[in-house]
Amino acid sequence: MSADLHDLGVAELARKLRAKEVSATETAQHFVARSREHATLGAFLATNEEVTFAQARAADARIAAGDAAPLLGVPVAHKDIFVTRDFPSTAGSRMLEGYRSPFDATVVRKLAEAGMVTLGKLNCDEFAMGSSNENSAFGPVRNPWDPARVPGGSSGGSAAAVAARLAPAVTGTDTGGSIRQPASFCGITGIKPTYGRASRYGMVAFASSLDQAGPMARSAEDCAWLLSAMCGPDPDRDSTSLDLPAEDFTRALGGSLEGLRIGVPKEFFAEGVTADVRAAIDSALAQYEQLGAKRVEISLPRTELAIPVYYVIAPAEASSNLSRFDGVKFGHRAAKYADLLDMYKKTRAEGFGDEVKRRIMIGTYVLSHGYYDAYYLQAQKIRRLIADDFQAAFRQCDLIAGPVAPSVAWKLGGHGGDPLADYLADIFTLPGSLAGLPGMSLPVGFGEGGMPVGLQLIGNYFQEGRLLHAAHRFQQATDFHLRRPGGF
Ligand code: GLN
Repeated sequence: MSADLHDLGVAELARKLRAKEVSATETAQHFVARSREHATLGAFLATNEEVTFAQARAADARIAAGDAAPLLGVPVAHKDIFVTRDFPSTAGSRMLEGYRSPFDATVVRKLAEAGMVTLGKLNCDEFAMGSSNENSAFGPVRNPWDPARVPGGSSGGSAAAVAARLAPAVTGTDTGGSIRQPASFCGITGIKPTYGRASRYGMVAFASSLDQAGPMARSAEDCAWLLSAMCGPDPDRDSTSLDLPAEDFTRALGGSLEGLRIGVPKEFFAEGVTADVRAAIDSALAQYEQLGAKRVEISLPRTELAIPVYYVIAPAEASSNLSRFDGVKFGHRAAKYADLLDMYKKTRAEGFGDEVKRRIMIGTYVLSHGYYDAYYLQAQKIRRLIADDFQAAFRQCDLIAGPVAPSVAWKLGGHGGDPLADYLADIFTLPGSLAGLPGMSLPVGFGEGGMPVGLQLIGNYFQEGRLLHAAHRFQQATDFHLRRPGGF
């Protein structure tokens, strides 16, 4: 029976664990063996069986004592951008190689308290900067649907692990699309909540006004279970965490979609969207109409501006956030240097990869005297207008739907190291991020090369329940989320 454990979703696995049909220890053993078997995917950066099995035994003890916590004993793995006490935390960077955090990120702590068993840490683009996981200092991740292709990024290890059934659910972070885009590329489901829903404490900071944690799993129902445990205020540790009580998002899953107004922005179907993606999105929208939803044509006129705006604001914040990696407080320090300034220079030259350096330079430039008004301030003004566009759209519809990305996953090396090609592919995820809105991706079909296509749903602030509900209804009527890559 345990051979099938990796086929179970979070909800089913939790039920079996509570019914004592399987123990948390057996479950952990099964997944540990599986991730060893598929190590060539490159999904995991760190594992520690001793820690995993100790957590599993603790979960078994809680189950035996009648503890009814819903996620008890269910395995999880974390994007290596969350700091953890029991595993190294690298953020995909040489700068933090071997770094051990003295504390757990709030999201990690919350899921551990809910009884989830940690399988390890997952590969990601360096400091979450990227769209293909090729910027990780520790090697790329392969897409389980085609090992010659990227899994997306920056939460590439997270998405690949779920698609390959190496974990029933994982965490990711999304600054400009890093949950939604890899979920789309790997044929799984992921949700980025409203900015401030989940605490950023212990998430290695990239762009603080955009960074947000969220779950990735096979189904919307599974995401709802994790999201319920991850969110909630953290006033002493993250001043931007929202003062909203924790919510049980699984309660939002019932009911019909009758009369739901789905806004389809015409700008999301512009030139550049490949025919296969367009076809999959069109048939998903037709499916929604069959489920009772109404399709409304809307406009998000500043969609294109989201790229330059994001690629000014995110690097600006990154250049400030990453100044802490100076070789003094933590992480890498150059072995040889002449004086303090030389130590800073050598440490940062050795520790950071090319993309991170590029962003630090862009960020420092747009914040510098004389350019601040021309670039940074302008970008902030347009950011506000982009958020206003969404509010105008939400007067006409209840949620917004469109592609997550203009194409399916590209080949490893396919963008030939051209950063602009990566940036342009972020066009549909960036607007929602800049506005701080919740967004998700759910698998709705297949395109070129048999690669998965994800539908993006964007909701108004605090409408995670509505998004999960819409995705869940779709998944009850279709089986794209249950398809699996060959060999897994
Ligand atoms: N691809 C985007 C970037 O490189 C988004 C990354 C993210 O959401 N962490 O910045």
